[in-house]
Amino acid sequence: MTTIAKCLQAIRDRIHNAESAAGRNQGEVMLLAVSKAHPTEAVRAAYAAGQQAFGENYLQEALAKQQELADLTIAWHFIGPLQSNKTQAIAQHFSWVHSVDRLKIAERLNAARPADLPRLQVCLQVNVSGETSKGGVAATEAFALAQAIAKLPRLQLRGLMAIPAPTNSIAKQRQQFRMVRELQEAMQAQGLTLDTLSMGMSDDFPAAIAEGATIIRVGSAIFGARQNVKLE
Ligand SMILES: *Cc1c(COP(=O)(O)O)cnc(C)c1O
Repeated sequence: MTTIAKCLQAIRDRIHNAESAAGRNQGEVMLLAVSKAHPTEAVRAAYAAGQQAFGENYLQEALAKQQELADLTIAWHFIGPLQSNKTQAIAQHFSWVHSVDRLKIAERLNAARPADLPRLQVCLQVNVSGETSKGGVAATEAFALAQAIAKLPRLQLRGLMAIPAPTNSIAKQRQQFRMVRELQEAMQAQGLTLDTLSMGMSDDFPAAIAEGATIIRVGSAIFGARQNVKLE
């Protein structure tokens, strides 16, 4: 087995353990492998080990990888910051977008989603930590934005995504993830259909699973450390 296959297996075991500990069914949590800053060979190794969904943050990097990996059946998820001039390509080349946080971007994705593809699956990124440096809509504005996005015919609003402030305290991790789940529950109670919570990364995914995550986004625990360079 390759190192990546071993790491993937270890993550799957930890997902199952976290599901069991939380009294959740095995297989409720989907693993999104975040391959940003890693080469296509790493994606191929993970794919050979059974991984099919991959997340990318930077459009140009993602498009280059998609071309090189066109022989594989991969579901590509865009999880990075969204800019208006990137929406057309993102609407054409991804199955999911996790980082929608304003209506203008959602409208552009909706307008650009090709008619021959299924609806673009989207999550609303929410900022529960209140950190100004982070993307995401404020919790107080999330419901109105979700209602508007739910009306866009070429998008399917699936749920919420969050990147909480990093902390080593499991209690604080859980507290932040719980805020996201409670926001989802409040929005459901007001009539929105939301079945997805995209939350939890390499260092905090067990806490996210304990609080109801349905997609965890894991990069370095599968592929190793990234070089700290921004690729764009
Ligand atoms: C990079 C990234 C991840 C993966 O982070 P790791 O700590 O490497 O697991 C998950 N989500 C988003 C939005 C990211 O940018």
